[in-house]
Amino acid sequence: MALDVAWAVDWARESARTVVEHRDELVELDRQIGDGDHGENLKRGFTAVVGKLDALGEPPATVGDVLKLVATTLMSTVGGAAGPLYGTAYLRAAKATGVAALDAAGVVALVEAALDGVVARGKATTGEKTMVDAWSPAAEAAAAAAAEGDDPVAVLTAAARAAAAGAQSTVPLVATKGRASYLGERSAGHLDPGARSTQLLLEAAVVAAGG
Ligand code: ADP
Ligand code: MG
Ligand code: MG
Repeated sequence: MALDVAWAVDWARESARTVVEHRDELVELDRQIGDGDHGENLKRGFTAVVGKLDALGEPPATVGDVLKLVATTLMSTVGGAAGPLYGTAYLRAAKATGVAALDAAGVVALVEAALDGVVARGKATTGEKTMVDAWSPAAEAAAAAAAEGDDPVAVLTAAARAAAAGAQSTVPLVATKGRASYLGERSAGHLDPGARSTQLLLEAAVVAAGG
């Protein structure tokens, strides 16, 4: 299946569906090491994304246009840390995609740009128990899969699998960035909500691709 503008729209809609489905789980994860709003923040943001897509007279022209709509909507509707972080990720991803459907290198560029956006905004590196621990292995796995000659959907699938493993890897970590860092050692033993939501969003991209 082509990773074209129709896929990007489906990705946005599937993201909203999965964020709503996992709203309570994300709230509970954030209750344990944060302020308990991550699921509600993302539900509000992606519900607004779907509202904007529904209200468009004409569908977006390119993958980049869809990602830009997601970025600007998340920035204006999601408060806290995650809004600017995901907003910057999607904005950088939008700029990294051309007008054509994504090839394998295009998928790598999208995920790497999203990671760059999160890092530019939040200044976290891997091992600090943040969404970087999901985005970073996702970008690495995507690049490795593309180098092996995998097709675009397989590259995306590799990224999502690595994000899932990366999210799980946050459990034993002590948070040193974001609200969870206020807990110090007591943040260990919990899954980072932003790493978990990053996994869900990349899995949504695979679902939208029919994977
Ligand atoms: P807030 O903490 O402001 O309530 P959210 O609950 O929506 O915001 O998002 C929390 C998530 O944001 C964390 O689980 C973590 O993954 C991510 N996060 C927080 N600070 C940073 C940072 N500096 N860099 C990367 N990710 C971060
Ligand atoms: Mg929170
Ligand atoms: Mg908050």
